Amino acid sequence: MGTVQVIGAGVAGFSLARHLVRAGYGGQITLYDPQGLPYDRPPLSKSLERVHFAEHGWFQEHGIELVGHAAQLPGIPDSPQDWLVLATGTTPRPLQVPGAEYAQVLHDAADAEALARKLSFGAFGTQVVVIGAGLVGAEFAAAARQLGAMVTLIGNHELPGGAVFGPPMARQLHEEHRTGGIRVITGTVQRITEHAVLVQDEELEADIVVAAIGVEPNTRVARRLGLATDDGILVDRDMRTSAAQVLAVGDAARQHGHRAYRHWERATEDAEIAAATIMGTEPPPRRSAWFWTDRHESHVEVVGDFSRATHTVERHNRQDKIHMSFGLDAAGTLVAAAMADDGTMGEAVRKLIDEGPTPPLSALQDPRISPRDLGQRR
Ligand SMILES: Cc1cc2nc3c(=O)[nH]c(=O)nc-3n(C[C@H](O)[C@H](O)[C@H](O)COP(=O)(O)OP(=O)(O)OC[C@H]3O[C@@H](n4cnc5c(N)ncnc54)[C@H](O)[C@@H]3O)c2cc1C
Repeated sequence: MGTVQVIGAGVAGFSLARHLVRAGYGGQITLYDPQGLPYDRPPLSKSLERVHFAEHGWFQEHGIELVGHAAQLPGIPDSPQDWLVLATGTTPRPLQVPGAEYAQVLHDAADAEALARKLSFGAFGTQVVVIGAGLVGAEFAAAARQLGAMVTLIGNHELPGGAVFGPPMARQLHEEHRTGGIRVITGTVQRITEHAVLVQDEELEADIVVAAIGVEPNTRVARRLGLATDDGILVDRDMRTSAAQVLAVGDAARQHGHRAYRHWERATEDAEIAAATIMGTEPPPRRSAWFWTDRHESHVEVVGDFSRATHTVERHNRQDKIHMSFGLDAAGTLVAAAMADDGTMGEAVRKLIDEGPTPPLSALQDPRISPRDLGQRR
């Protein structure tokens, strides 16, 4: 019947197992992960909680073996019935400053639970310094502030997230930190001590220091197996690595000729394609990237890729805040959109990006025209 051995049981590894179950896969599925019962990462920086994908009973019911501590990880299969899937995710990029050991990261459930414990005991007045104003740093800063901590957020760019949300939306979101009661500093951290962070020659008192300066793909297992890697485990469109019976999915993988997209939904899409490769069925088509973030009172969704946009067009709400920002490339084609507080628009705008046509600029800016109707405008 064959076997599928999956190294890593984050959203990519777990989704792969679930897709195989749904497709009626008859072989043995084994998930290896030292983290134990699989859980999701996005809640960690928002509510600081561990949210499991499924309970133990689900894995038992479907005959999926969960291995927490493997003496030896499986090697490259030599039968076309057997598959090895690498879903090893990322590791936090290490901070390279004196005293970096005083900073903690927020990457797994134990990190989030440790921070939640520290913040729930007398959080009022706790001094929190967050280094890195990217997605995870910004979300954690907002969560800590909401728990009553005094938060300073340090970014090393004037406009964090400019290439992710487009500059106008990034500016608005970054400004929300200030209105939300967070002190924002632009600069490079010089040193960390047990109770302080030195930045721009200013010493900031700190009870908790969190470093969130990005992640790197976890390619250690792949390299040990001799697979091709370059900013991720290199895969083709079917998620095959340089070894035919080894697939790679999720944040650890990068498709040849494309930049790496390290977001939740991309990882689930990879898993669905990998399941189709294993089952020998037609894979679903790739769609443009989609991710969300929640900070302060804002829920923001982004579709497409703002790094491809040369200019943006905005739509404002009644309070004159940016409600939607559309990114267009040099040819005037819609390549990205960021939407604040409106989960209903993502799908329709994504369809416009994937299939066209690009509506006229006046229609993009007009709040009376719904995204569904935008598709009818030429
Ligand atoms: C705090 C946080 C908040 C996030 N918020 C958002 C968000 O709001 N929106 C969004 O779109 N994305 C968000 N993301 C990104 C999203 O969670 C990732 O893109 C997604 O988890 C990637 O899935 P993955 O399965 O590839 O990797 P992961 O979920 O990281 O899972 C990888 C797993 O592999 C295991 N592993 C690694 N090496 C080995 C080994 N040698 N043996 C066995 N197991 C191994 C690890 O223990 C881990 O459990 C967030 C990420 C973090 C960390």
